Parts: sequence; structure tokens; C-alpha cells
Amino acid sequence: MHKVIILGTGPAGLTAAIYLARANMNPLVIEGQEPGGQLTTTTDVENFPGFPEGILGPELMDNMRKQAERFGAQFKRGWVTDADLSHRPFKLTVEGEGELTCEALVLSTGASAKLLGIPGEKENMGQGVSTCATCDGFFYRGKKIIVVGGGDSAMEEANFLTKFASEVTVVHRREELRASKIMQDRARANEKIKWALNRVPVEVVTKEEGSVKGLKVQNKETGKEEILEADGIFVAIGHRPNTDFLKGQLNMDELGYIQVTPGTTRTNIEGVFACGDVQDREYRQAITAAGTGCMAAIDCEKYLEGAAAVDWSKSL
Ligand code: NAP
Repeated sequence: MHKVIILGTGPAGLTAAIYLARANMNPLVIEGQEPGGQLTTTTDVENFPGFPEGILGPELMDNMRKQAERFGAQFKRGWVTDADLSHRPFKLTVEGEGELTCEALVLSTGASAKLLGIPGEKENMGQGVSTCATCDGFFYRGKKIIVVGGGDSAMEEANFLTKFASEVTVVHRREELRASKIMQDRARANEKIKWALNRVPVEVVTKEEGSVKGLKVQNKETGKEEILEADGIFVAIGHRPNTDFLKGQLNMDELGYIQVTPGTTRTNIEGVFACGDVQDREYRQAITAAGTGCMAAIDCEKYLEGAAAVDWSKSL
């Protein structure tokens, strides 16, 4: 039986851990399949305040983790497959480990990379198809790469991959990019980046011996299908919240993001708090995740010290 369990080790979970550990709440932090969260799959973080020269994503997360450990937060690797939030103590089922129980729960499981859902994508994942340029870019030295997507992630990945690739083609399903102007400008100024706009991905095509040959797309201008040749395809089309294990347990929106009482991190279940990308479809930044992680810790601390300070009647 734990006083408080934090699920997830991105900026939200680790900030909650720092605050709860400093408040002597002895948090247990469960690390899932991507310790450190999405920032561990990014390179330079230029917009986290306090680092005028920028900082590498993995280094930032490592620092946050050390900071939480310094104040006594305990960490445990594990994959939570099920949760029972219908009564207290809350119960979590951890794969291969059995059950953990807690008085209060902080949900900071973040979001995961979305996939295109086209033939050949899953089959070649890790062998020609990737969702993480930082992890896999190195394998494509001197090769041709496709990046799918038109948002900031796609621009960032495309730019990063030009460090390795001979050529990077951005494939986007519309004419206009969704990415912010500064990210677009940076990508457009990069001579190694080519553009295949108005192209809808149809299939990952492989050679006879099995390696990736390219991406079959439908050209929206001609209506015809064509194959864009590449050795590697990086899918950068956004993320979905990691809330499958919580289905039916608490209020979520239609996309699976956890709903919280505005201005707080309180979910509709007393004693359960949500912070970071798992409850944020709008801002999704490391600094906003860290900010809501701090809020969750303070909300949780007040709850554990006696619900008197928290008016749950104003919850969802
Ligand atoms: P996003 O903004 O949601 O963009 C996803 C892109 O993928 C869109 O262009 C979308 O096309 C395309 N897409 C989605 N589903 C698709 C499908 N099935 N087939 C083909 N294309 C598909 O996601 P994101 O780029 O990951 O960015 C998420 C948030 O993180 C944003 O707020 C962004 O600003 C932020 N971010 C910031 C940085 C940075 O500042 N360094 C880096 C990365 C991300 P449509 O445009 O047609 O919908």
C-alpha cells in the first residue's frame, strides 16, 4: 500500500515526483515502456526556460529524474495493464508483478506516436519504418529518407535527419503545412529537404529481399498512385494519449484525453489527478507538462493531508 503512486516519467510525472518527494509524501513512480517520455526521442530542446543554449531532451529528463531521486522518490519499471479506481485504495495491475495499491494516484502517462495504419507499416517497424528520428536516424547515413507529416514534429525530424541522410523528403497529405512558421522556415531553408505535398500515404513498399523500397502514395492532384523511393520512412503525424488501461474508469474526452476540472488537475474521481499530455490536447509542451505536474503534486498533497482543503463538489 503506497500513499501516492505516479504513473509516467515525462516532465509532468517527474515534476510531480520532485514536489511530492519534497513534501515527504514518499511517491512511488512507475516507469513504463518509454522512460523519460517523448523528450527522450527529441534532440535539442530550445524552449525550456533556464537553458539559454538549449539542452538535449534525454539530458533534461535525466536531470529531472536525478532531482526527484535526490528527495527520495522511488522508481519502479513496470507496465500497468489495468486499473480499478472504483474504490479506495486504488488498485493497479502491473504486468508480471501483480497488484499495487495506493491512497492517491497521479496519472502522467503522456501520449504515444500515432501510426498511419497502412499495409507494411507495422511489419517493417524498426526495420525501415520508425517513429523516432533520434533513435534510428543514425542507421540511415548517406541514405534517402521520407518523413510523413506536416506538423512541428515532422519539420523537426526532417531537419534532424538531414544530419545523416543524403536526402529527406517530407510527405504531407495537404498543400499547407500545419507546423509553426519558424519550424517551416527552417525546414524550407534546408537544401537537403524535398517536398511531396498533397500526397496521401497508401502502403510501405518492400523489395523482394524484404527491405523497404519506399512509400506508395496517392497524388491528390492527379488521383494516381506513385512510389516515392526511400531506404527509411519516419512517421511523424502526432500522438495519442496513453489511457487505454483506464477506459471506463474515469471521464475522458472522445479522443481518450483525461478530463480535469479546469484550473486544477482533479479528475472526476476523488484522489486521482492527471497532468501533462495525457490531459492536454492544446498546449502539449514540456514546460506546460511540468507546470501541471507541479499542480498535480500540490492538489494531491492537499488531498492526502485531509480532503477539507479540496472542494470535490466542484469537480467534474
Ligand atoms: P500535429 O501538430 O498534430 O501534426 C500532425 C501532422 O500529421 C499533421 O500535419 C497531420 O496532417 C498529419 N497526419 C495526421 N494523421 C495523418 C495520417 N493518418 N496520414 C497522413 N498524415 C497525417 O502533431 P505534431 O507535429 O506531433 O505536434 C504536436 C504538438 O507538439 C504541436 O503543438 C507542436 O507545436 C508541438 N511540437 C513542438 C516542437 C518544437 O517546438 N520543437 C516539436 C514537435 C512538436 P493535417 O495537417 O492534414 O491534419
